[in-house]
Amino acid sequence: MNAVDIIAKKRDGEELTREEIRFFIDGFTRGDIPDYQASAWAMAVLLRGMTPAETFDLTEVMVESGGKVDLSGVVDVVVDKHSTGGVGDKTTLVVEPIIAASGVRVGKMSGRGLSFTGGTLDKMESIPGYQAEISGDQFVQQLKEVGLVLSGQTADLAPADGKLYALRDVTGTVPSIPLIASSIMSKKLAGGAHAVVLDVKVGLGAFMQSLEEASQLAHLMVEIGERSGRRMVALLSDMNQPLGHAVGNALELKEALNTLLGSGPRDFYEHCMKVAGHLLVLARRAETLEAGKRIASDELESGRALDKFKALISAQGGEVRVIEDPHLLPRAAYVQTVGAPASGYLQTVHAREVGLTVVQLGGGRKKKGEEIDHAVGVVVHHKVGDRLEQGEPLFTVHANREADGEAAVERMLSAHKITTQEVDPLPLFYETISGEGYLRPA
Ligand code: URA
Repeated sequence: MNAVDIIAKKRDGEELTREEIRFFIDGFTRGDIPDYQASAWAMAVLLRGMTPAETFDLTEVMVESGGKVDLSGVVDVVVDKHSTGGVGDKTTLVVEPIIAASGVRVGKMSGRGLSFTGGTLDKMESIPGYQAEISGDQFVQQLKEVGLVLSGQTADLAPADGKLYALRDVTGTVPSIPLIASSIMSKKLAGGAHAVVLDVKVGLGAFMQSLEEASQLAHLMVEIGERSGRRMVALLSDMNQPLGHAVGNALELKEALNTLLGSGPRDFYEHCMKVAGHLLVLARRAETLEAGKRIASDELESGRALDKFKALISAQGGEVRVIEDPHLLPRAAYVQTVGAPASGYLQTVHAREVGLTVVQLGGGRKKKGEEIDHAVGVVVHHKVGDRLEQGEPLFTVHANREADGEAAVERMLSAHKITTQEVDPLPLFYETISGEGYLRPA
């Protein structure tokens, strides 16, 4: 077996065997197969695709390239959620405290933001003192004592994916459905989840721009999870406009806090209820989605979810007083609210453009590892379909340099389109794909 033959076989559109995939991925992870061959292979996969069987084999080989987390001694059922990445997506910050408050322990390993999409750890790190990087021992201890952890990866999960993803990022080979599916699922499986809710974003601010592609990705990931004996559900959710109003780390943290206090934006609240409802069904705390949503809203309204969030912040060294006094969160020097340039109906709030505006302000990364400014960001005041009067607040820019703020105002004005025709609001969700094991007994 050699790397060139495997690349050529995929180039010609043939199906690779499990042994060939293992040979290639293991060789690449060890450094025996160089980046230029792995790039050619990834491009051949992008252009020729993979069968579900190949994608499953690739996922397993990547899982086996590193350690696995086993929390079965600490929790009865390990539930996890994963978003494919969006703009203003602070769902984890609300949903995980709700689930933990209901008595299901949640230990979540999250990532950082890259390009126009945000990351949970960056949002949590806008809390002064919060330690996202904790040891494996602390992870387990906190999971037992507090029932909730939000941290970076404590083990080297699927290192083959880490290496391959870095290469795909710089060779134009990210947007391949089998490569994305195996990349995401290898980390979920290595992370030890028994049950997973996948939040697959679709639209202008997502990897998947069309419903058809998003649906294909979702079905494939559900199938991979099911084949590995996990209970799975995937939601296709809208990412044409930002989720909620706030985009930017401290601003999103504040919006998540408001939601836990019962005064979050309607769309974001409903999004959280649906994700939490499915997680509670998968954790066998609820028999139906509606029952799960009822439990979720009780945990929120009773204040128990907020208490869990407080306990989490405290356990990971963060300043708990931010809950009573959000002014303790980082704040930007220049805050400018811009009015609607015309009356009419809001047709577009271009999610990708909004996300890129925040990156330009310094709130996101152009390259992995860059420092970010937690204070900056934007708040959009309206949703697609809203009726607007000229001059009423359209968005607010939070900048730390005046010139950045001015550039952001221009970009945000172009991201909004107003029309004289009535516009239908965008749906929150398009489709739900449940695996056969969705209701299987634990
Ligand atoms: N997120 C991942 O983890 N992997 C991909 O390939 C794309 C998004």
